[in-house]
Amino acid sequence: MKVWFYLPLVHSSLLDNPRCYEFATKVRNVLKDKRGWSNHGYAFVELRSKDDARLVSNNDIMLLKLVPPSIMYDAYPQFKDEQLSVANVAAHTVDFNSDRWFGDIGNKSGLPLFDYQTYLVNHEVGHILGKGHLNPSNSLPSVPTPVMIQQTKGIGDFMPNPWPTDLDSK
Ligand SMILES: [Zn+2]
Repeated sequence: MKVWFYLPLVHSSLLDNPRCYEFATKVRNVLKDKRGWSNHGYAFVELRSKDDARLVSNNDIMLLKLVPPSIMYDAYPQFKDEQLSVANVAAHTVDFNSDRWFGDIGNKSGLPLFDYQTYLVNHEVGHILGKGHLNPSNSLPSVPTPVMIQQTKGIGDFMPNPWPTDLDSK
């Protein structure tokens, strides 16, 4: 079983927004949930600070950051048009677009916001685990949507679902 350490971070410019307070809790709950990647051969240990991170090999750490789009697309201008979150796989870093996270921008996942946030964590962490996008051509209402589909853009005829499926494990 591969063990990953993760550090949830909220950009300083968001700290006066009460909606950001639950970001770390949400990330923690999704990563420890038995319906998540922990059911697919991974384990996750939370780091509490950047000081903690110094004690662990950088190869085993992922940084999960909530960032306002006005700042994150300075670093990733190629993603600005679609306003998606960005997983920098080489750097083991995810920037979550805070407007998406808060539901200020709509999405086509078919999920209520609480579950859409679950999907966002599972999808972006999936990239850091080395998983790419899935584009299955035949979607069925009886089959839960894989999380490695870009659900923000739509889920075809799949059943709305925020948790990794057998299709995501491959
Ligand atoms: Zn993606």
